[in-house]
Amino acid sequence: MLRLILFDVDGTLLSTDGKAGRAIAVALRETFGTAGPIEGYSFAGKTDPQIIFELTAQAGFPRSEVAPLLPKVFDAYCGHLAAALTPANTRVLPGVREVLDALAARGDAAVGLLTGNIRRGAEIKLAAAGLSGRFAIGAFGSDEEDRNRLVPVARARARERWGEEFPGARTVVVGDAQADIRCARAGGARAVAVASSKTPKGELAALAPDALLDSLAAPEALTALVATDP
Ligand SMILES: [Mg+2]
Repeated sequence: MLRLILFDVDGTLLSTDGKAGRAIAVALRETFGTAGPIEGYSFAGKTDPQIIFELTAQAGFPRSEVAPLLPKVFDAYCGHLAAALTPANTRVLPGVREVLDALAARGDAAVGLLTGNIRRGAEIKLAAAGLSGRFAIGAFGSDEEDRNRLVPVARARARERWGEEFPGARTVVVGDAQADIRCARAGGARAVAVASSKTPKGELAALAPDALLDSLAAPEALTALVATDP
């Protein structure tokens, strides 16, 4: 039996060091004339549609006005993102390549993505980081605005791809934000939290993830990822 291991992207696999946020800001200004209160805004664990709706709402735009413009904002965002990211300026976080290599070598791990990024945005980031082709399936912010609904999306795609079910703790959600732990809980999955980005370790610990790592370079990382007991 396989276990399904679902990785968040930003702050877990890679960092754009703010370049993705700036691409969103430019796209919002082009579309709405303002990026709302984007300075100081926390993107952690949020889906891309959620980010657009929250920032525009705080700038006074009703949801009904924003929703039809999402494709336009995301087209602009992806254009700016692709122009901004290069292999030289997109950082793969410590331990990521090694963990992905180790999982690929095991033969009992189905590896995918569970991210708030829209699919095109995730593909641009992963390509810049040299991580394209590492993830056979994904659940994205373009599938659901609410991250808590993404585990079932990932499981359905995994069932199609690998021909088996991934119930309960046989699915593992790996992420750097509190929202990743909440989304794992909402989907009845194991939560592996990685304090590799902005969320302090203590704030992750407060939500009692099944495992809490300093980074994916931690010696116990692989063991934490492949454990299936809750
Ligand atoms: Mg993240």
